[in-house]
Amino acid sequence: MASNKKLLVLPGDGIGPEVMREVRRVIDWMDRRRAVTFDLEEALVGGAAMDAQGVPITEETVAKAKSADAVLFGSVGGPKWDTLGFDKRPEIAILTLRRELGLFANLRPATVLDPLVDASTLKPDVVRGLDIMIVRESTGGIYFGEPRGIETLPDGSKRGVNTEVYTTAEIERVARVGFELARKRQNRLCSVEKANVMESGLLWRQTVAALGQREFPDVELSHMYADNCAMQLVRNPRQFDVIVTTNLFGDLLSDLASMLTGSLGMLPSATLGGLGADGRRHALYEPIHGSAPDIAGKGIANPMAQILSFAMLLRFSFDMNEDAALIERACTKVLASGLRTADIMQTGMARVSTQVMGEAVTRELDKIAA
Ligand code: NAD
Repeated sequence: MASNKKLLVLPGDGIGPEVMREVRRVIDWMDRRRAVTFDLEEALVGGAAMDAQGVPITEETVAKAKSADAVLFGSVGGPKWDTLGFDKRPEIAILTLRRELGLFANLRPATVLDPLVDASTLKPDVVRGLDIMIVRESTGGIYFGEPRGIETLPDGSKRGVNTEVYTTAEIERVARVGFELARKRQNRLCSVEKANVMESGLLWRQTVAALGQREFPDVELSHMYADNCAMQLVRNPRQFDVIVTTNLFGDLLSDLASMLTGSLGMLPSATLGGLGADGRRHALYEPIHGSAPDIAGKGIANPMAQILSFAMLLRFSFDMNEDAALIERACTKVLASGLRTADIMQTGMARVSTQVMGEAVTRELDKIAA
């Protein structure tokens, strides 16, 4: 019997709790059918925590996140809390967790499951079988660099400043995540920056190249300018395996790549920290979609992105690749059987609720594992 795995579950606001309920169904299934048990703790975050506890996330919840093996996050926010001051906004919950857990590598897969190949705005032939992973540096670069601000010049006009800044250590730690991921996939890493016009980009390129030679000579490394990468992602996205890039370029390119798949309700993500002295790595898993206030409470949200986030958690926090693949296969089979939530509805398919979709996933798990 495998040892217990400690998970902190933070459903959040809007559709967060609705889709998390379906993940709980999958976790219960795993408890029953696989040789693994999860110790689950649940806490409020975001607007829900603001209402009940007066802050977007309590110190107690942060402490629980630090002691957990992994955090499964839903989504936070909604119109009810939009007018609160910045320190009370629901988004503070996720920013606090990223900072306190030292989460610096954001992993966003862009995968096209066969039954949804027509959901992309690109031709099926271009995206069929697409399976790329974008690793975005998420705690440095221009969103955090100093100096920053808006200043008034002597002539009364204004000047806005932000600074793109990366140290060798920051580049190496995120590149290492990219190299390690590539080794577990097709062994190809593409590092993306603008070394032609930015010194920080040149340092990025030199540092990744040196790290590759030193520690990952077996991984096929290429370099690409970010503007070209945007074009290549639309022209021929399947040329990529793993992409590693800066905070700013990763923000844009990962959004672009997720739209290749055509559906927000299908896309998971992970944010990883460094390896601690005890060999543990903090990690948080969440769907890329938000709390979808427009459909919250209607029971129609697509739970797949949240369920697939749990599959990522199994793969990256616990090396449970077989179980992760099982869940991914079950999701694909449910879609192949013609069930669709409203966001991915196609003619000739059956439109179902969040709950029916979740139940269908566990039914497929039963069949596959039989
Ligand atoms: P959103 O992702 O919540 O919704 C965008 C659109 O996609 C909506 O029409 C929504 O109904 C639909 N959608 C999203 N997820 C879906 C799902 N699983 N199934 C079916 N349809 C789905 O983005 P938004 O509308 O820009 O933001 C809404 C709120 O969420 C805001 O308060 C925003 O700040 C917050 N937000 C939170 C996170 C997070 O918690 N990490 C991320 C993004 C946005």
